[in-house]
Amino acid sequence: MQYFGVIGNPIAHSLSPLIHNSLFSHFSLQAHYKKILLENSNDFPTTLCPLKGANITLPYKESVIPFCDEIRGIAQEIGAVNTLYREGERWIGYNTDAEGFYLSLGNHKIKNALILGAGGSAKAVVKILQKHNVAVSMLNRTMEKIASFSGVRAYERGESYELIVNTTSAGLKGELPLEEQHLQEIFSRSSLAFDLIYPSSNSIHTLQDFLRFLRQREDTLFCSFAKKCKIPRIDGLDMLCYQAFLAFEIFCANKYHFEEIKQVFYP
Ligand code: NDP
Repeated sequence: MQYFGVIGNPIAHSLSPLIHNSLFSHFSLQAHYKKILLENSNDFPTTLCPLKGANITLPYKESVIPFCDEIRGIAQEIGAVNTLYREGERWIGYNTDAEGFYLSLGNHKIKNALILGAGGSAKAVVKILQKHNVAVSMLNRTMEKIASFSGVRAYERGESYELIVNTTSAGLKGELPLEEQHLQEIFSRSSLAFDLIYPSSNSIHTLQDFLRFLRQREDTLFCSFAKKCKIPRIDGLDMLCYQAFLAFEIFCANKYHFEEIKQVFYP
């Protein structure tokens, strides 16, 4: 039996165990995935000891880096790791949030984007968009933070952006990231809204519950405002699933591939 887990604080509401345990069961793998509450990043070595792999969530995506023996792929450029896999005695760090976000844009081809927020998740979103030659502008409550993002322009009122990505946590407090009239003005010149937040539910206990939720879920506050402004919208639930499928590819040493894994949740 191999053991995996999602490490964070808080962690009680994570859907990752349901996703990964459903996949282990579907592919008949002798593995188990659990939630791990970590109070202090100094405890990473003992927490990781029994594990073959892990996902890392808030607030440890950056502080886990010193505990990695090697960082691969875009995680190096982003400076944040959300997936760990043990190769022999070495911990390898990856970032699957960035690619998960990009895949969840589907067939939308974007040339320029406005990112709302300048926190940890914005780093992954900015890097992957830049990799795909999307011109990125940013708007944050604390504008000084934008200076730490390279190749990004500060938002200018009146400009048009095809894609508006909400990476702020404002929605978790029941707030829009901007004053309503300002957001409406931005949406009026845009063609797609993306909210990293996903709707929550206390009644997801089985894969069937999850599949039902994927098919019919309520809009987040940001998405519901985009709908009111008559532009298409995407919430963060597909991104959550896709980053998990990419992590699962790593956990099973690429024995199963993204499309095959995706089929389990998007038949
Ligand atoms: P951080 O704490 O690093 O950053 C939060 C950002 O939100 C900051 O830019 C902050 O602005 C801004 N903010 C917070 N409250 C408000 C507000 N009331 N109005 C305007 N701006 C506000 O968080 P992360 O970037 O790590 O995560 C952001 C969100 O993305 C979380 O809700 C998380 O759940 C979600 N997420 C979803 C994922 C998915 O797979 N779908 C993956 C990763 C994250 P300031 O700098 O001024 O403080």
